[in-house]
Amino acid sequence: MTATAPVNPLQNTFTPPIPFDTHKPWSNWGGNQSATPAFTVRPRNEQEALDTVRFAIKEGLPVRAVGAGHSFTPLVQTGGVLMDLSELSGITGTDSARRRARAKGGTAISAFGDALWDKGLGLSNQGDIDKQSISGAIATGTHGSGINLGCFSSALRWVRLINGHGEIVEIGEDQLRELRAAQVALGTLGIFLEVELQVTDRYHLQEQITYPTWGETVSTWDEDIANNRHYSFFWCQGEESAGLYELPTPAGESMVNRSYTKRYNAVTLDANESGIDLTESARRDRSYRVYPGGFMIPFHELEYYVPAERGREAVETIQDLIRTVHADQKYPMEVRWVQQDDAYLSPFYKRDTTVISVSGAPGTNYWPYLRDVDAALQPFDARAHWGKIHFMTRDRLKHLYPELDTFLAVRREFDPNGVFLNDHTRALLG
Ligand SMILES: Cc1cc2nc3c(=O)[nH]c(=O)nc-3n(C[C@H](O)[C@H](O)[C@H](O)COP(=O)(O)OP(=O)(O)OC[C@H]3O[C@@H](n4cnc5c(N)ncnc54)[C@H](O)[C@@H]3O)c2cc1C
Repeated sequence: MTATAPVNPLQNTFTPPIPFDTHKPWSNWGGNQSATPAFTVRPRNEQEALDTVRFAIKEGLPVRAVGAGHSFTPLVQTGGVLMDLSELSGITGTDSARRRARAKGGTAISAFGDALWDKGLGLSNQGDIDKQSISGAIATGTHGSGINLGCFSSALRWVRLINGHGEIVEIGEDQLRELRAAQVALGTLGIFLEVELQVTDRYHLQEQITYPTWGETVSTWDEDIANNRHYSFFWCQGEESAGLYELPTPAGESMVNRSYTKRYNAVTLDANESGIDLTESARRDRSYRVYPGGFMIPFHELEYYVPAERGREAVETIQDLIRTVHADQKYPMEVRWVQQDDAYLSPFYKRDTTVISVSGAPGTNYWPYLRDVDAALQPFDARAHWGKIHFMTRDRLKHLYPELDTFLAVRREFDPNGVFLNDHTRALLG
């Protein structure tokens, strides 16, 4: 008697076969999230992505998308089908007059720089790194800093996606209810195949790095927020703090209770001029070359959002908490600003925001610290970064997101059977 080879349902379903793995362990950038999906599928075109979702629906398997795996929360985990969109990548069109750019769903943020520059365009703002996929960044409300600049989600104007009915559908500006749900959706409306963003004219940035004491930081608080395109700082509680984020500091200067402060402002240069004064503290270059920093060494980050008018009070509350209870926690506190927007699940929904980020060291028990930060910021009605460690529950969301029910109604229309949910998103949004 000969043994029958196990039948692989994917192999039998697709022609030609879509690249996939079975039971391949997955883990995120930070190493704090992992999963073993039944299938990991890397579609090379929209038809393969659609075939995969239809296969999953037929087999009763859930589907989650993964971009660059840079979220710290259990957003991507699934025991069903993990759809890796990295091969669905590339800028698909630009409209310089309307300042619009289209890209495939798996395109890395880093791929926008040169391609948009050549068309006279640029992303309005960027965060600390540019490794994320555009759809991953949109899904979680990823942002840079600047009180007059919105997050990536706020720039979404159109999307083509695969919904939970196994159909390809489009959402544009004529469907504001659906667009505002899609702008921050944690991957729960479906698979984003292509997106259109509002972008801006290309621009150069001048970087200025300073190392003010806390007293100096406070004395120019409002002007710094208002008068710089990008203003942000990393407050250092200990001598070792800056080094943990690989931030260069002046030799022989104590960084305790000082900040590594960044100001980026637009500067006029010849279009091809770049890299002038390329010292560590005075870079002048195309915007997309100035924004991304290092962050090569993993850390585990929590990020909460408070109303901008209470930002200083909230930052000082966390400084006190660190000094009095958690002096062993040495990662700097990063502080940034984001302009309000209208997306139902955006942490910046109708609220100009101060962003407070703290981190724990991988391999240590940082949970008491992060829980205390969560508790200390609750009186500020803090919302959380969907892609960074948080302690949000469905009950807390009801209080913090006035349009939660509208989002949930749209979600149910797009995915009535919960194809795109996992345990984490079901608890929050199911
Ligand atoms: C070193 C580091 C630096 C960071 N810097 C910043 C920063 O400066 N500002 C900031 O706001 N955040 C920052 N983050 C957080 C990060 O931007 C978010 O977690 C972002 O969501 C990660 O994008 P990703 O492509 O890795 O998505 P993933 O983590 O892979 O996925 C995130 C979510 O997007 C969904 N998704 C991905 N692709 C698709 C698709 N095609 N269709 C539908 N859903 C999809 C996933 O299902 C998941 O729910 C940082 C994270 C790290 C690790």
